[in-house]
Amino acid sequence: MNSVTIFGLGPMGQAMARVLLAKDYSVTVWNRTAARAADVVDAGAKLAASPRDALAASKLVILSLTDYQAMYDVLGTSTGDLAGKDLVNLSSDTPDRTREAAAWANAHQARFLTGGVMVPAPLVGTEASFIYYSGPREILEAHEATLRILGTPRYVGVEPGLAQLYYQAQLDVFLTTLSSVLHATALVGSAGVTAAQFLPEVLGTLRLTDTIIGAPETANQIDSGVHPGALSTTTMMGATADHIVGTSEAAGIDLLLPRAVQSHYHRAIAAGHGRDNWTSLIEVIRSRG
Ligand code: NDP
Repeated sequence: MNSVTIFGLGPMGQAMARVLLAKDYSVTVWNRTAARAADVVDAGAKLAASPRDALAASKLVILSLTDYQAMYDVLGTSTGDLAGKDLVNLSSDTPDRTREAAAWANAHQARFLTGGVMVPAPLVGTEASFIYYSGPREILEAHEATLRILGTPRYVGVEPGLAQLYYQAQLDVFLTTLSSVLHATALVGSAGVTAAQFLPEVLGTLRLTDTIIGAPETANQIDSGVHPGALSTTTMMGATADHIVGTSEAAGIDLLLPRAVQSHYHRAIAAGHGRDNWTSLIEVIRSRG
């Protein structure tokens, strides 16, 4: 029977354990808070008594922790048991920390693959699930059948930090979008509009954004550095960014997010991109303001 060890039983680690158990894998789990293992143990997982026992149970060791420091906290006293293991760390952290972790694992004779799961826990194991990986491709190939159960692997390169660079970039979009949706909801809420009324309206904007981002000229302009403003200009959209700040000020709500967006437009216009398309903001975003 194929065996996998999972460290970390938050919603994500539990989801991974469940989908592997459903495929008849032998799943060994360890979690700092042992009580959190109850559901997956009911579903057939084995709860290891110690990190050392958990490591001993499988060659493939998946980590699903809050960050990379948690990996050192969990495995730091069992480094003598890492030799020959394939660590696949699917926790979030900066690319620098993932590089350090790969070197740390290699120094203890373990192989190390970095990953970033790109769907919420309930979607793990579904068609929608995909996971960025970087590091030695042979580790992914050795365990691809197993890892594919969690989500479609998207290998982005040998450099260990790359998967987390993709992950953080995608979460940059995701978290900023969620905050902007909440900010906009607070804005209309200042006039008594409810989220139930407003959120369906927001979906229309998100679909429009999809079309704009998907248009080939968007990528072409960003990659070429040529930003013709035939249909809309940075000056026009910057005026709107000013209006959003003014409306938020009048509503008495948080200003940091609209001010950040406004600053991109102000800087782009100051840099001479006033008549260019909004894609020209990339030229100022690439450096610190
Ligand atoms: P949780 O924060 O719920 O769980 C994190 C796990 O890390 C828990 O098992 C927790 O143990 C453990 N942990 C944290 N700090 C330490 C420490 N210092 N020592 C030992 N164990 C520690 O996270 P999720 O399960 O939601 O997410 C896990 C990873 O997956 C994260 O990196 C997250 O960014 C990523 N992810 C999550 C998604 C989701 O939908 N949840 C979606 C995509 C990615 P304990 O139970 O004892 O607190």
